[in-house]
Amino acid sequence: MQFKDERYNRQEMMPQIGTEGQRLLRRASVVSVGAGGVKSPLLYYLAAAGVGRIHIIDFDRIETSNLNRQILYRSHDVGRLKAEVAAEELLELNPEIEVTFSTERVDDENVERLLAGYSVILEGGDGPEQRLLCNSFAIQTSTPMVHVSAQYGYGYVFTMASPGDPCLQCAFPDLPENRRGPVPVWGVSTGLAGVLGANEVLKIILGKGDLASGYLFSFSCFKNDFIKVPIDRIRGCPACGSR
Ligand SMILES: [Zn+2]
Repeated sequence: MQFKDERYNRQEMMPQIGTEGQRLLRRASVVSVGAGGVKSPLLYYLAAAGVGRIHIIDFDRIETSNLNRQILYRSHDVGRLKAEVAAEELLELNPEIEVTFSTERVDDENVERLLAGYSVILEGGDGPEQRLLCNSFAIQTSTPMVHVSAQYGYGYVFTMASPGDPCLQCAFPDLPENRRGPVPVWGVSTGLAGVLGANEVLKIILGKGDLASGYLFSFSCFKNDFIKVPIDRIRGCPACGSR
């Protein structure tokens, strides 16, 4: 078999991908709400794999305390906008793809303009309101959505791929009460969770493999445990109950 594209030939040689899979990746688009700890490795792997269009939404600026885990950024980037630096980094890794960014905060007014029209939504935000807004938008538009998070030595991946799947609020019913602000986090757990999240996004685009839907895929870095916690749709869920 001949692969003209040297950048991707190692993955095109895989039976799950091939030139057709690579074409699917090139045609795909992903919007990421946030570009922090879990999104750093996640976005690197999407760019490296050749996902054709990536849009990053983040209004935050880089702080020194981000650098133990937000590996998109360097010490000399402190004070700059995350979205802008992240876009530069991804384009340096892969100039063949399109990377754009926005420094808005996702809210009720702009959610449609910011999140509509992508193949996959990477939900996120600086508080539970934004996460739930992404969740509701993904449900309304039947857009596959991937949740990735980490705290302490733990990481979590959860995918809502098709309309019958439990949603983010089914998986985290107490999310609305979640407190915002700094939480302790081990850089490796954000790294591992982010890479697993990239794996989910790429499998959604390729239509191959098993997804973390209907269960929460979680792990402990310190106990070397990987577990699947079954998640059912909650009857009367405020987000997906009427779907
Ligand atoms: Zn739900």
